[in-house]
Amino acid sequence: MAAAAPKPAGAQVFDAIIVGAGFSGLYQLHKLRDELGLNVRVLEKGDGIGGTWFWNRYPGARCDSESYYYCYSFSPEIQQEWSWTERYPEHPEIRRYLDFVADRLDLNRDIQLSTTVTGARFDGARSLWTVDTAGGERFETRFLITAVGCLSAANIPKFDGLESFRGSWYHTGAWPREGVDFTGKRVGQIGTGSTGIQAAPVIAAEAAHLTVFQRTANYSIPARNRPMTPEETRAIKASYPEIWEKARAGTNGHPFDVAARSALSVSDEEREAIYEQAWARGGLRFRASFQDILADKAANDTASDFLRRKIAEVVEDPEVAERLTPRDHGFATKRPPIDTAYFETFNRDNVLLVDLKAEPIVAVTERGIRTTARDYELDIIVFATGFDALTGPLLALNIEGENGLPLRQAWAEGPRTYLGLQVPGFPNLFTITGPGSPSVLCNMPIAIEQHVDWITAAIRHLREHGLDRIEARPEAADAWVEHVNEAANATLLPMAASSWYLGANVPGKPRVFMPYAGGFARYIGICNEVTGDGYRGFALR
Ligand code: NAP
Repeated sequence: MAAAAPKPAGAQVFDAIIVGAGFSGLYQLHKLRDELGLNVRVLEKGDGIGGTWFWNRYPGARCDSESYYYCYSFSPEIQQEWSWTERYPEHPEIRRYLDFVADRLDLNRDIQLSTTVTGARFDGARSLWTVDTAGGERFETRFLITAVGCLSAANIPKFDGLESFRGSWYHTGAWPREGVDFTGKRVGQIGTGSTGIQAAPVIAAEAAHLTVFQRTANYSIPARNRPMTPEETRAIKASYPEIWEKARAGTNGHPFDVAARSALSVSDEEREAIYEQAWARGGLRFRASFQDILADKAANDTASDFLRRKIAEVVEDPEVAERLTPRDHGFATKRPPIDTAYFETFNRDNVLLVDLKAEPIVAVTERGIRTTARDYELDIIVFATGFDALTGPLLALNIEGENGLPLRQAWAEGPRTYLGLQVPGFPNLFTITGPGSPSVLCNMPIAIEQHVDWITAAIRHLREHGLDRIEARPEAADAWVEHVNEAANATLLPMAASSWYLGANVPGKPRVFMPYAGGFARYIGICNEVTGDGYRGFALR
């Protein structure tokens, strides 16, 4: 390491600044501080740790991955000491888990809460990043690591008249800590993605009336949540090494096998029985019923048809059932939600479905929502309208790389990274689960751990070799972007025109398939190969 340059008055100097204190920021702090001995500060916008789970406290918020593998794998002690209470953890339990980890590893002393990063600039002459915050603080650091999550920049559609609405409105991803009382209220919920599908049943049970404004009908699999039994917990704790091995060897970082058979290789009766069994078991594992559900349109049709029939079975009013039935995309080409009594909710007397394809929203008025067909009077509007995914949280940091190049400009045509880890022209900036990595197509904690381990090893390598800088080479990033596109195009994923994977949910956002769809195991192999080959594609000096 070169000697630290003199600091400007007032700047606090660290070896590494990590932005965000969710799953990724906490683990990255532990690795850099406790393994490499670096002087590290985590800057966190919220007034508590937890990242995604700090902000997403909406009714029904619960993880779609099962609790026993939606957690860290790096510490055998932590996984033995912590026990999950339910098959899918609810948001407060995930925060309790992260608090437990932070206490266990004594992380809080290096986390600065209520600190919003407003800008970061790279000084090429000194190989240092300067980081500014909304509170007027300035930091200098060799390494800048973003741990801001993929789904943390709320997408609030710009409806005319929202400011005139006399009731209250909330985005699910910035839910008030104290909660929202729906008792006796007329509630309008916009959005039927994973979030809306979790929220609607809970809101409907509490509110006087719920109107669900749906733009695109969605598939959903029952979650079949239930308490964990002590026997199950014991068995899981005894087999963690195999669980993690399986998760790392798979496509999506989940510790279950995708069946090797094709959906087209079995008889209709056999296929139906397999789908029924997966439906009864519940959860994201449904898509592992056959290996070609996301690779072959005819195979995908079999799953989509099965799920459409289930909607018709559950929803009593055939017209409502038809409006709830997705016809414009195949199952799992958009992130598949899982639910607890979502479709059943539309059998309630106090729930109304509005099809925005038939009657788009014109404006929000003083009294509610106006569509092209009529006015809906509301006391509360819930925006379950998703996120400016993957790039949004990074662009919000106002990062400027070498020669003052803004990240926003570098990514004007869409994100360009090498392995989702680094951006050419932005030395020593690491993006945990950045665009171009498996990230959101994966079980997040294990994808995060792989990135953090890689980043930690790269920084260790620099230090051991007396080097200051690591930077993705432009040609490596170009080749990677091409590979990310190829990987996506080898699947049915790009077919869903309104998918946030493509940035299609945010008006004006470049349409680029952002996560790496080539599979987690393959991605790990590529990263290891790159390292073994002397950090191929990175410039080190
Ligand atoms: P989302 O999947 O992007 O869904 C947003 C919904 O809002 C969609 O129905 C969308 O319709 C609608 N919408 C957006 N803009 C609109 C507009 N201007 N007018 C009308 N409707 C509009 O967002 P999300 O449900 O928050 O989920 C995002 C991701 O977060 C998930 O896919 C998942 O990866 C993650 N998540 C995970 C969990 C979990 O693990 N527990 C829970 C929730 C979310 P279109 O489809 O037509 O765009």
